[in-house]
Amino acid sequence: MGREYWEEELETLSRKQLEKLQTEKLKKLIERAAKADFYEKKFSNMGISPDSIHSVNDIRKLPFTCKQDLRDHFPYGLRAVPQKECIRLHSSSGTTGTPTVIFHNRNDISNWANLMARSLYCAGVRDDDVFQNICGYGLFTGGLGFQYGIERLGALSIPAGAGNSVRQIKLMQDYGTTAIHAIPSYLGYLHEVFESEGLDPRKDTKLRMMVIGAEPHSEDTRRRIEELFGVKAYNSFGLSEMNGPGVAFECEYQKGLHIWEDAYIVEIVDPHTLEPVPDGEIGELILTTLDREAMPIIRYRTRDLTRIIPTQCSCGRTHRMLDRITGRSDDMFIIKGCNVFPMQIEGILMKIPEVGNEYRIKLETIHSNDEVVVEVELHRDTFTDNLERLNNLTRRITHDIRDEILVKPIVKLVESGSLPKSEGKAIRLFDNRMKN
Ligand code: ADP
Ligand code: ZN
Repeated sequence: MGREYWEEELETLSRKQLEKLQTEKLKKLIERAAKADFYEKKFSNMGISPDSIHSVNDIRKLPFTCKQDLRDHFPYGLRAVPQKECIRLHSSSGTTGTPTVIFHNRNDISNWANLMARSLYCAGVRDDDVFQNICGYGLFTGGLGFQYGIERLGALSIPAGAGNSVRQIKLMQDYGTTAIHAIPSYLGYLHEVFESEGLDPRKDTKLRMMVIGAEPHSEDTRRRIEELFGVKAYNSFGLSEMNGPGVAFECEYQKGLHIWEDAYIVEIVDPHTLEPVPDGEIGELILTTLDREAMPIIRYRTRDLTRIIPTQCSCGRTHRMLDRITGRSDDMFIIKGCNVFPMQIEGILMKIPEVGNEYRIKLETIHSNDEVVVEVELHRDTFTDNLERLNNLTRRITHDIRDEILVKPIVKLVESGSLPKSEGKAIRLFDNRMKN
């Protein structure tokens, strides 16, 4: 049997040792961050220096950083080293306003590769695996982030990129792919292409595991994907501001996402008061980069809602676990006075076998009432010729969603394969309400 951990000592540090390490790193971080204009100003206004830190809890003395700060100080305001030292940048697309950019120096790229290797190892990838990375390369961090991690771990990497599903399947067959990484919303489609090629991934590939992440998905979606491909699908969480993938990952027990606390300080706060919530309670995830040199980020407001799972994992890792992300606080919509997360609707839909993998939520104003319209693709094996059964199915979905979100939706069943698919992260919520 091979070794169990990528870095046994770091992954199994006692909580006390871990906190000591975090405190030491936090002091150094303040020194480094003060070299960026943005933090230099904040720290001098607030009277913060490395001496302000005596324990990890002193992080609460430090200012929050949010996406708008990155935009307002685009592109160099948070960079803490000269350009000459930087070797890569990753940037958000900027389709919704000013882009944000993150700079990395040599150590940053190397540390990130190591965290990714640790994450993949934690999920069970080994150096004899053939790992096909089915996601966009380029500025999106899922491509190069996984690429460097797979190489650091020593598995054979196939940098397949996104899309072109028939070719993806051919690559899997030609090279005996044993592991893949993809966005969950793509995998239902990939499975349909397997079927239309007359193939079954469970029999016609050597696949033994997969990694899914980069977008919110429900536990039922994960189970569906696992059934379709006949292998376990491990959840991977990350965001570009914190490098990208490799922030938190599931281990073989799939009980939550171990967040690498030697590299990040985790806080969960009430998004309104910004005060910490107790372990186990849902709040906004706040993250601090402990190692990053080119562009440290302190107390980043991710907008992601989750909680710390207040139990220890049987794998022996001491780094705490995050629960599946419920969604971004930005995704929440309010309709008829009820707060709703798209993930609640997905959770209901994916429990129903007659439902396919795609859906869309449209908020519409109909006869001056705001309504939730849910378009639901039928599973390709679902009867479409029996009107009574279709009506019953519509009623059942309406009822189950109403029970969950407390608002009665308008459910429209559509044919399998008829909703548009995106190559990147899925966009499923459309707010077309008339604003008054
Ligand atoms: P963008 O902000 O353009 O989507 P990122 O790649 O940085 O670019 O996206 C990071 C975000 O994606 C996270 O903040 C989170 O909302 C979401 N995300 C990433 N991984 C997961 C995951 N495993 N589960 C749920 N959401 C995820
Ligand atoms: Zn574990």
